[in-house]
Amino acid sequence: MEEKKINEGEEKKSLSFVEQMVEKDLEEGKNAGRIQTRFPPEPNGYIHIGHAKAICMDFGVAEKYNGVCNLRFDDTNPSKEDTEYVDSILHDIQWLGFKWGNVYYASDYFQQLWDFAVWMIKKGLAYIDEQTSEQIAQQKGTPTTPGTASPYRDRPVEESLKLFEQMNTPEAVEGSMVLRAKMDMANPNMHFRDPVMYRIIHTPHHRTGTQWHAYPMYDFAHGQSDFFEGVTHSICTLEFVPHRPLYDKFIDLLKEMRGETADINDNRPRQIEFNRLNLTYTVMSKRKLHQLVDEKLVRGWDDPRMPTVCGMRRRGYSAQSIRNFIDSIGYTKFDALNDYALLEAAVRDDLNKKACRVSAVLNPVKLILTNYPEGQSEELEAINNPENEADGSHTITFSRELWIERDDFMEDAPKKFFRLSPGKEVRLKNAYIIKCTGCKKDDEGNVTEIYAEYDPLSRSGMEGANRKVKGTLHWLSVNHCQKAEVRLYDRLFNVENPSADDRDFHDLLNPESLKVLNNCYVENYLSEKKAGDFLQFQRIGYFTLDPDTTPGHLVFNRTVGLKDTWAKINK
Ligand code: ATP
Ligand code: MG
Repeated sequence: MEEKKINEGEEKKSLSFVEQMVEKDLEEGKNAGRIQTRFPPEPNGYIHIGHAKAICMDFGVAEKYNGVCNLRFDDTNPSKEDTEYVDSILHDIQWLGFKWGNVYYASDYFQQLWDFAVWMIKKGLAYIDEQTSEQIAQQKGTPTTPGTASPYRDRPVEESLKLFEQMNTPEAVEGSMVLRAKMDMANPNMHFRDPVMYRIIHTPHHRTGTQWHAYPMYDFAHGQSDFFEGVTHSICTLEFVPHRPLYDKFIDLLKEMRGETADINDNRPRQIEFNRLNLTYTVMSKRKLHQLVDEKLVRGWDDPRMPTVCGMRRRGYSAQSIRNFIDSIGYTKFDALNDYALLEAAVRDDLNKKACRVSAVLNPVKLILTNYPEGQSEELEAINNPENEADGSHTITFSRELWIERDDFMEDAPKKFFRLSPGKEVRLKNAYIIKCTGCKKDDEGNVTEIYAEYDPLSRSGMEGANRKVKGTLHWLSVNHCQKAEVRLYDRLFNVENPSADDRDFHDLLNPESLKVLNNCYVENYLSEKKAGDFLQFQRIGYFTLDPDTTPGHLVFNRTVGLKDTWAKINK
């Protein structure tokens, strides 16, 4: 008995605090065991890996407790929103591997919210303020000193009702008035100091066009939308902790309007907050990501250096590796900066299981096997993935003239150089053992050709082929390979936490975050691959084909190196 109890305790421990709260609600029989969550993006940009963390939580909880997770686009600010973003968000969530129940829009509730606001005005709980936003801000006070009441605070209900109608006409001047809740100008929680409920915006809305001119603020839309949909657990990030009392307050009022009472099955959404995902050497703020794109500091939202889901996909990260990373960092109540190296480790770990092993030479120099017959070639077997036999193999052509990496040859090599140098033996991957006999150089002393002799009896797989040689090099047959462009990516910013740095954002960018190599070669086999396929260029790193590829022009992205090189450089 004793033992069982301990096990149960351990199981509980591994639940995130959010899951523990959900389980407690289930145990107490709240909402008859119904679990409903939502992911509520504002369609004003592409989603990034921080959103992916929220997605994993929102969808994960629903999946785990047989509930449903819906999507709700928080589209209450038409000046920044667009259907382009809606479409990309739908695509990215699917790519991450999640399925939503319904797709809702906050704009579906504009009429309901309007009616609720009118009810509040009639109850004397809201008023039209005709001050400027600066004046309103000045009157807010500080958390320790009370604010000052607006001169419009006690205007007659009829006047506010009439002006509210006016706010919603094409003639209304943006910024000329707002609707505010009449709450408590002395409340230590600043969100209660007569929060703004509605503002005027004339930019046409991506769904409702020019039907509306007065739009609800986040605080007057989010909780109510949760309530209208029947959300049971409204999970969000820590910055919303101070908004929670207001979230609850508006729902109290909404229930009062509807004449509903509080009980265990009242389908009241409960807001729960967890820590945001922040990554070193990048930024997560949509405003800054917009800036990077708009100022063409990157090549677009899906630039492989971006922390966006589409950027990471283009770079060759697997959805599984992103999910594994998010799982490994967990959910807490404290904001922190997560190490990018951890994400890369998760990517390597997953790609090691999935990537097809191929050969590519990024910095080529010619190797001639002087005793290999001219005009002859042979097809050798190359195993696709030693980690997964089911992936099979493909063939690679061998011949007299090969490309190898320039770095793999040294004329005067130190003792521990286990690659090619005169008099030394190495194995060519999947092929023969060769012995270097010399090299040719140009006037400046650059090596232009390397010479070697192959041992015909040493082919991989041949009996007696297991003679010990220290190094194995990758190679390509000069007449049986293709030219390629290879894009090498590095961290986007030079500083660990650009968001916390006061210096100009532009000065923090890493000018060497993209290096393009135009003189690379890859196996012919790679022309069968498509963008997003996971590849390992043996001895170099993980790569994928970039969508910029056209017939006859292959472009590859380096997803991540084989080892963590940053760790060393930083020390
Ligand atoms: P904005 O600055 O435009 O408000 P946002 O990043 O908050 O941007 P939203 O579209 O409002 O974007 O976010 C949708 C959901 O994703 C919210 O619930 C938010 O809490 C969550 N989210 C956003 N950024 C992160 C992050 N870095 N880590 C975890 N969750 C995040
Ligand atoms: Mg937000």
